[in-house]
Amino acid sequence: MYRIKEAFYTLQGEGAQAGRAAVFCRFSKCNLWSGRETDRATAVCNFCDTDFVGIDGQNGGKFGTAMALAEHIAGLWPQASGRPYVVCTGGEPLLQLDEPLISAFHECGFEVGVETNGTLPAPAGIDWLCVSPKANAPLVLDECDELKLVFPQPLAPPPEAFENIRARHFFLSPMASPTVPGNQEDAVKQSNTRKATDYCLAHPRWRLTLQMHKIIGID
Ligand code: SF4
Repeated sequence: MYRIKEAFYTLQGEGAQAGRAAVFCRFSKCNLWSGRETDRATAVCNFCDTDFVGIDGQNGGKFGTAMALAEHIAGLWPQASGRPYVVCTGGEPLLQLDEPLISAFHECGFEVGVETNGTLPAPAGIDWLCVSPKANAPLVLDECDELKLVFPQPLAPPPEAFENIRARHFFLSPMASPTVPGNQEDAVKQSNTRKATDYCLAHPRWRLTLQMHKIIGID
């Protein structure tokens, strides 16, 4: 049984695949936070801005087989040119994503991308793996296509500590904290963007990535 919070067709907003059309498949649950505000302060990861609780989002639900979910996702891809692309995200998709589901996506013609916190093993067959490490959450994955570090994370080691991971791309994504009052959010975001920019200027191996979907106002 696969539990999906929501699924929708959009543009990938971040990283090396930014601007690419994709169906986002958001899996329910995460291993680093319950998703409840009452637990945020004590969660391993406490800056999350995503609702991944339950199955009540658009096109969400429970799917009894891998093919049932893959066909559901395929139904969200428009009949158009270009190779279909699904981004498995969450929550933490590796709590549920397995080889049968990856095979089912491939059978439906999809290239499979995954966005994970990197704390769980990844099944074989993933076409594009993005690891986003979280402070205090030991990494299990040491190889990926892109490493995307939310920056600055107060308790995380500096970005260069992650350079032993075998990645084709290293990105810094400025932290946009959901825990600050609304009227201070822009100032915090600006300050963090400046810090990430300065880091990339001083360490050219790292590239800045912004949440383009939020800038242009899409999901
Ligand atoms: S690991 Fe990702 S999904 Fe889980 S709480 Fe943190 S930001 Fe949210």
